[in-house]
Parts: sequence; C-alpha cells; structure tokens
Amino acid sequence: MINAHTHLFSQGKPLNPKLATPKGQRMVATFAHSPLGKPYMAATVKHNATTLLESGVTTIRTLGDVGYEVVTLRDQIDAGQILGPRILASGPLMAIPEAMAPPLIALTSGTPEEARTAVAQNLKAGVNAIKIAATGGVTDAQEIGEAGSPQMSVEQMRAICDEAHQYGVIVGAHAQSPEGVRRSLLAGVDTIEHGSVLDDELIGMFRHNPNALRGYSALIPTLSAGLSPDLAWTGRDRHHRHPIGEFQKRGRRMVSGARQAHEAGLMIGVGTDTGMTFVPQYATWRELELLVAYAGFSPAEALHAATARQRLHSRRRCRDRFFGSRQIR
Ligand SMILES: [Zn+2]
Repeated sequence: MINAHTHLFSQGKPLNPKLATPKGQRMVATFAHSPLGKPYMAATVKHNATTLLESGVTTIRTLGDVGYEVVTLRDQIDAGQILGPRILASGPLMAIPEAMAPPLIALTSGTPEEARTAVAQNLKAGVNAIKIAATGGVTDAQEIGEAGSPQMSVEQMRAICDEAHQYGVIVGAHAQSPEGVRRSLLAGVDTIEHGSVLDDELIGMFRHNPNALRGYSALIPTLSAGLSPDLAWTGRDRHHRHPIGEFQKRGRRMVSGARQAHEAGLMIGVGTDTGMTFVPQYATWRELELLVAYAGFSPAEALHAATARQRLHSRRRCRDRFFGSRQIR
C-alpha cells in the first residue's frame, strides 16, 4: 500500500494537553533539536517507519516533519542500511507566522519571497515533498470554525508551488474548508489534504488545474484523522454503524468531500494523517475500511486508490538537481 499522508514523529497516542499549548510546543521543539533530542527523533521515525512497513505499507509521503530527520532516514533506507518503506519526505511544513503548528514543524513566511526562500531551504536539505498549511488545523484550533479558516495567501502558495514544481516536486496543502480548497487549487497545489465539501467549480478545478505540476490535482481525504477520535471515544467503530450526523463538523465535511470526489471520478489517494491522535502507525488498512463505509468506495476501488492510482514520485531528487545530476529513480 501507499500512504500519501503520514507523520513519523509520533505514534497516535492522545496529546498531552500541556504540550499542545504554544509554550509546550516550544519546549518540545527545543528538545527535538537538542543534542539529546536528535537521536531520540531519529530512533522514533525509524521505529514508526518500520511499523508502517510491517503493516503492509511500502511507500509513504510524510507531510510535516520536525526537521530533516525523515530525509536522513530515507537516505539510509535507499542506501540499504535499514529496511523501511520508500519515502517521500517533506521536512518542516510551510506556514504563515503564528499559524498551524509553528514552531515545532513549520518554516514560517509572511510574503511570497520569504515563502520561496523557505521552499529552497527544504529542497536544498533534500526533501522530495512540500507541505503547506493553507488553512488552520484541527489540533491547534482554539475555537470552532478556526480549523478551516484560510491562512496563507494565494500569492504565497503560488510562489511555493512554482518553486517546488521547477524541481518536479509536488505540493500538498492542508485545506479544511471550501474556500481553503479553492485558494489552494488556484495556487497550483497538487494534492488537497483532508478537504471539505466540494461544488461543481471546485470539482472542475481539481480536474483541470493548469498551475498544478501535472495539470490536475488529487484529493487525500484522511478519513482516519477526521473520524478516529469520534470512533475511539464512542467505541462504536467495529461495524462502522456510527451515524454520520454525530460526527463533528470537520469529519462530516471531509466525508462529504471524499464522497463527492469519488462520484465525480477525481484522483483520490489514501492517506491517514498517521501520528495524529488515535491514528496509529499500523492502521493504514482502516482508511480503506472508512472509504468503503462512508465515501461510497467498493473494496476494489479502495485497494486501487491505495496501490495503483497514486503517482507521487518525482523522477529525480531535487537535491541532485541542486548538487549534481546523479539519477536515483
Ligand atoms: Zn498531517
């Protein structure tokens, strides 16, 4: 299987509320980048990548790493030093100052120029995926509705896509509202992460997106992240009989978007947002069940989405374009 949206820095256990505050985040960031924290992070991402592989996942794309610890892991796997899945690593994500997840896993920028510089920094460090926080995230939302509020400007996201596309690297954007999805697609984002309710205009933009690297964009719904907290709390996930009306707003919107995208025949990838609360590293299979239970997929279509339909690889590592022409894939 291919899991197109993972994180390797945590295991899916509920976050300690104290660490979710800005102060807590700064403490965690300081530790993660310290001489003691670096080997800890390296061991953590290695362990989690192994779990993914043992659960049947042979390719992952991380979308938001603490630093470049997953780039290092990817190179060790590619060199045959460690057994692990094929990895597209994003490094830190792109966000506006004081937006989703800084300072732990974000490079912040306030203008298109600064955004280009941030992308170039990641590309030079060897990333082969780019992640944007286009709207607010659920985990850092302080009030209801904040999760989907647009954050980064279209111009800034356009600069990021332009810079990444020059090196054949696709861009994923966290977007949890129709407006966030629209702005991301306009900017040329290649994969919409999580997503929201769609309309004919948005569906048309997915199908034909001249600013995207391949002329179209795909949706990675991550139903696991949207639904797992509710399913876990109610303990009613065994047969997926959980009535949809009880899901929180974000879960419902995400399910609607996935269903609409499936009906419209858009390109849909399988991602879980692994590492988020109640989304453990071993449970990519659960996303297939959720796509079947809630988004109108047949089992064969879900398997197809997790295996054959995703085209995430860029031909060459961008670092090789910066530093030489060694062809890796
Ligand atoms: Zn994520």
